[in-house]
Amino acid sequence: MTVEYGLYIHLPYCRSLCPYCDFVKSPLHPAAPERLRAAPAREWELVRAADAAVWSRPRTIYVGGGTPTALDAGALAKFLQWIAGAWDLSRVREFTVEANPEGLSPEKLQVLLEGGVNRLSLGVQSLEPQVLRALGRIHTAEAALTAVALARRAGFRNLSVDLMYGVPAETAEGFRSALERFVALGIPHLSAYPLQVEEGTPLHAKVERGSVTVPGEEEVLARYEDLVSTLSRAGYRHYEVSNFALPGVHSRHNEGYWMRRPYLGLGPGAHSFDGGARWGNDENIERWFHRVESGELPRADVRALSRREAEEEGVFLSLRRSRGLRVSRHLKPFAPEHVAAWNAWGVAGGALARAPRGRVRPTDRGLFLAHDLAAELLARGA
Ligand code: SF4
Repeated sequence: MTVEYGLYIHLPYCRSLCPYCDFVKSPLHPAAPERLRAAPAREWELVRAADAAVWSRPRTIYVGGGTPTALDAGALAKFLQWIAGAWDLSRVREFTVEANPEGLSPEKLQVLLEGGVNRLSLGVQSLEPQVLRALGRIHTAEAALTAVALARRAGFRNLSVDLMYGVPAETAEGFRSALERFVALGIPHLSAYPLQVEEGTPLHAKVERGSVTVPGEEEVLARYEDLVSTLSRAGYRHYEVSNFALPGVHSRHNEGYWMRRPYLGLGPGAHSFDGGARWGNDENIERWFHRVESGELPRADVRALSRREAEEEGVFLSLRRSRGLRVSRHLKPFAPEHVAAWNAWGVAGGALARAPRGRVRPTDRGLFLAHDLAAELLARGA
């Protein structure tokens, strides 16, 4: 059986490491690109040998990291040539590569376009210098705007900009003016994430020591409300908690995650879902290399989902999207009186909208509280 799926490839290298980041990554070593290119190819051979033709035809491709564009133009070109040779790309509708402003040259942009990439996701994070410093980013606001201009000049129409809020030292005016700047530039897709202080990161240690203070919950919510109102007024659709798009340019790859479509992840720490089971790859980069190079699938934990777990996932993921839930599909296992009480509770609290019969839709506030909304429904019982 051949499934239509999203292909994710994780390139774990960055030019410099940000203190808040808990992704699987390491500083780029000049000797690494060759090995880095060979290892995903080997992993792909192992996956194909194990799962026959199942993963032959991706519908979307997403190359993330790390910073894929930390590779030099030659290594990037070879990597994209490998993808073009390894998969049947005839049905790929969206091919995204993540990029950071630093080192994004016209030459690399050309390589990306020639390699079939049709969507660029640019990690801008902020246009406030003190916020970029607090995040440990190595680009400036000017470099970010230059990267946007270069990408458009090169021919990238489907461009997404990543921003962050709830960051130490940010200002409400600075955040709003960055949003307005990108709206004025006509950037078709924006993603904005609240800073998460993850355990084990250098930022977490600083917050624990009290040498850095992060904005409180109310401030973060105020920034989110600004985000939603600024972008909604400008015609963007708030289609997922953190994602906003002009008509027709939502992220098809990420939509696959939220709709529980199958996806295959290659590279250290990459996750996969075949429709019934989930697994993650080894997060230790050296161990991932070692396992792949010695002919072993680098999977760390394979877990077949029970029916109940699959249903709960459906609820959690659907409440992250403005389209919300379909009662007949997602709420069948729940007793109708529980659903009615939960719905009334959500509407009264401004988290659920009055939706047409058969649907449950979160409001903008409800999207911010998506996890709590889902947890409340599950707590009320099936
Ligand atoms: S550039 Fe991105 S992936 Fe790399 S350390 Fe910074 S946040 Fe993490």
